This record gives sequence, C-alpha cells and structure tokens, in this order.
Amino acid sequence: MRKPYFIAGNWKMNKTKDEAVELARQVVEAVKDGKNRYLVAPSFTNLDAVSSVVKGTNVILGAQNCSTEEAGAHTGEVSVGMLKSVGVQTVILGHSERRHIYGESDEMINKKVRLALANGLDVILCIGELLEEREAGKAEAVCEEQTRKGLKDVSAQDMARVTIAYEPVWAIGTGKTATPDDAQAIHAFVRGVLKSMFGDDVAEKTYIQYGGSMNDGNAADLLAKPDIDGGLIGGAALVAEKFSVIAHVE
Ligand code: PEP
Repeated sequence: MRKPYFIAGNWKMNKTKDEAVELARQVVEAVKDGKNRYLVAPSFTNLDAVSSVVKGTNVILGAQNCSTEEAGAHTGEVSVGMLKSVGVQTVILGHSERRHIYGESDEMINKKVRLALANGLDVILCIGELLEEREAGKAEAVCEEQTRKGLKDVSAQDMARVTIAYEPVWAIGTGKTATPDDAQAIHAFVRGVLKSMFGDDVAEKTYIQYGGSMNDGNAADLLAKPDIDGGLIGGAALVAEKFSVIAHVE
C-alpha cells in the first residue's frame, strides 16, 4: 500500500444543500487529526456550499463528473472551468454508474480525463468489471481495457495527478465486497498494466483505491493489502461516523 491512504467519499445523488453542508462539517471535524488524505464529492449543486466548509482544511473537494467540452451549447453539462471556479481540485471520472446507466464510453471518459488534467484538475479514474464479466473470467481484460483506453495519451508526468479506483460493479452499493485477496489480485494486475504503459516509477507511485461496499467493518482488511492504497466509498461515506472509522485506518 502507498501511504498516507487516499480516502474519498462519493456522495452520489444524495443530500440537499443543508444536509451536504452538515455532513461536510461532520467529516471535517472527524478527520481533522487524521493521517490520511481525504476527499468528499458532493453533487454539483452542493459543491459551492461544501467548498466553503472544507476550504483551509485537510479535506479536498471533488466532483463526480464533468463535461467532455469546455464551454458552449451543452445543456445540462458542467465544465471543468465551472468546477475549478468553486474550488474543486479533483474529478471522479468513469464511475460505473456513468458507464452503465448513462452510457459513457471509454473514449468519452478519456476525453474528460485529458481535459481535466489539461485544466489543472486531478482525476480519479474508475474502472471495474460487471458480474457477468467476472463470471466469464474477463475481469482482468475489462480492467486492462478501461485502464488503457481511459489513460490514452496521458503523459507519465500527468499520471502524478491520476488515481485509479478499482470498483467491481457487482460490489457497488450491494453490500457484496470483493474479498481482500480478490481485490488485491486485480490491483496488482492493474499496477502491472500501468507499468507497461508508463514504466516502473509511475506504476509504483500511482494510487489505486478500492471501491465497492467498503465500510467501517472491512476497510482495515482491504487497506492492509499491498496494492490497495485507499478507498472510494459510497454508502458508508454518507454517515460521518462510518466514514471516520475508514478515514482513520493507518
Ligand atoms: C461508489 O459509488 O463508488 C461505491 C463504491 O459505492 P458503495 O460504497 O456504496 O458500494
């Protein structure tokens, strides 16, 4: 594992503005003496308000998505410039819900990754296989393809601002967690893919988070694995006490 761990909360489409501000205050309080790196990703409408809460703290503001385009006639989209203007430092891209509910392709995700990096944002690139892909023995092939296509034309230098989140789709929001050994196997495999794309140094330094029903009860075992460097947490990130337990794993 790379340390400090990178512990990120993806709040998805949860929390009204007041609720998001309250949760952000609780998270800030809970992790203020924590040794790890922290991020919260509220919905677009709550970014500005949460930004005011996390400003000057050890909690980074993340967004859950961004547009492939910089500006213009793209109704309903949010640009990287807009995200930066409210204090966002990092954007989560390629989340499985974006891929599988909203049909985002690897090409589209790669365009977002490159645009975000070019505009000074850090990126968490999510990858992960569906249950039927795992059962067909294709988990590694899917993760390799999503990694290679998602990071196409990203420079080794820019990889310093990229985190990968391995999130097996069958484990997201289902209460089914990959076993630490299963997760470790894919993390090590993905690190090998990064090695072949960018070389040893980048592969060794790149953080690979695990996501998929990580919670206060299983985080320590997952994070103890050598290639699991943090967590991208959905459900458990909505409860400050649970997030706090994960946040304090050392
Ligand atoms: C996620 O949304 O990235 C996620 C991992 O969700 P959950 O922790 O709820 O499975």
